[in-house]
Amino acid sequence: MVLPRAADVVNRRLPRFQADRSRSIVKGMEAILLSIGNELTCGQTVDTNAAWLSRRLAEAGVRVLLQVTAPDDLEPIRAELDRACARADVVLITGGLGPTEDDLTRQALAAAMGRPLVLSPFHAEQIRRFFSTRNLSMPEANVVQAMFPEGSTPIDNTAGTAPGIRATCGRATVFAMPGVPREMKVMFDRDVMPWIRARAGGAAILSRTLNCFGEGESAIGERIGDLMRRDRNPLVGTTASRGVIGIRVHARGESPAEAAGRLERTCAEIRARLGDLVFGEDQATLAHAVAALLIEQRLTVATAESCTGGLIAKSLTDVPGSSAYFIEGLICYANAAKTRLLGLAPELLAAHGAVSPQVAEAMAAGCRQRGGTDLAVSTTGIAGPTGGTETRPVGLVYIGLADGAGAVVTEHRLGSFLDREEIRDRAAKIALNRLRLWLLARRADRGGGSR
Ligand code: ATP
Ligand code: MG
Repeated sequence: MVLPRAADVVNRRLPRFQADRSRSIVKGMEAILLSIGNELTCGQTVDTNAAWLSRRLAEAGVRVLLQVTAPDDLEPIRAELDRACARADVVLITGGLGPTEDDLTRQALAAAMGRPLVLSPFHAEQIRRFFSTRNLSMPEANVVQAMFPEGSTPIDNTAGTAPGIRATCGRATVFAMPGVPREMKVMFDRDVMPWIRARAGGAAILSRTLNCFGEGESAIGERIGDLMRRDRNPLVGTTASRGVIGIRVHARGESPAEAAGRLERTCAEIRARLGDLVFGEDQATLAHAVAALLIEQRLTVATAESCTGGLIAKSLTDVPGSSAYFIEGLICYANAAKTRLLGLAPELLAAHGAVSPQVAEAMAAGCRQRGGTDLAVSTTGIAGPTGGTETRPVGLVYIGLADGAGAVVTEHRLGSFLDREEIRDRAAKIALNRLRLWLLARRADRGGGSR
């Protein structure tokens, strides 16, 4: 399918290569998710069903237009169903199929279809059996679970009592499934996904996140702004989390191979523009990136941490196989520890203070020398919330990196918006990132391959 006309008008004004890419957008099957329950609208339960379903639908190339949440009241459910069924190809409802007064999904669906609810004796018997095989008598209220809108198709529930419903409503096919996540997942995978796959025609949406560190979201957004246009395929968006900027790329294609091709081309373009800012993909952390580079270059590292309290060592040893490159991590909090463990002269500490570039430098150099490693990193700073002065405010952190040629210290002022925990986390990430950049530069110097 081609783009809607309005977008074509826009494309005519764009450079040719962009217009061509945009025109290749596949509309494909579109879905709306409707989650039902007061426990959701009042915030008691987090809607994990919608998140799970959205991921599954993406695998089948189905675009989710909206996730809607409605309380256990007939009118709002019906109104949202009317709206959804006028717009989407598939509407997936979860919840409200239970036997109690406040379970109104089947009534709302029947109303939206303009059909009455009719009893299915077969399903009434099945529900009765569900109870009797467990030596329970069926509460009469459960009979309602054997009522279906006329013209709809019941879907067996192999994991609980409430059957699901498949129905045609407006231009959409509606699937109503139980709210209990376990029951919903079984039903979706067994009965709904095959139906969708058979009609989605092999379309696929593939996603990847490129993780960046070293610049803010807006600075990164500026460099890839044209790739983030909302009518583009792949769709590109950014999220910021604790200093890491994630660039999410969603590529749609009429086949998995087509989606994969688009995904690869856009990811390559982003990497080309952002260079060393990108440190990994999806779940990869800065420590993973550092670990891979250390292993590749057969180098070792040790850490001497003050304000980060061992966070760098923890991150580096979180990676399986870390014994190949991580030798030791010292937490040298007190001045006496810096002297005893790293050999810092008390005079140096007295002259410059523990939070100083001189101390960070001596810590890194001492750590590298005592540990016998290729590299060492050090941190010293004021994590707050107290202890800051006008000249040395909370968030002032010095990070040292020692190699065979000496130690280089960088100064960072992280204070204004971050709390203690965030300052420590950010300082550890900056240290890891310095290690990463050092290792990348060394590889480039030696004519190593590109990442
Ligand atoms: P059924 O249709 O099977 O009767 P229901 O939603 O009417 O399900 P509830 O008692 O409301 O039944 O929910 C059953 C359980 O499933 C509860 O623990 C509820 O929190 C959980 N649940 C319902 N909807 C969701 C959802 N969208 N995401 C996560 N959990 C959910
Ligand atoms: Mg409910």
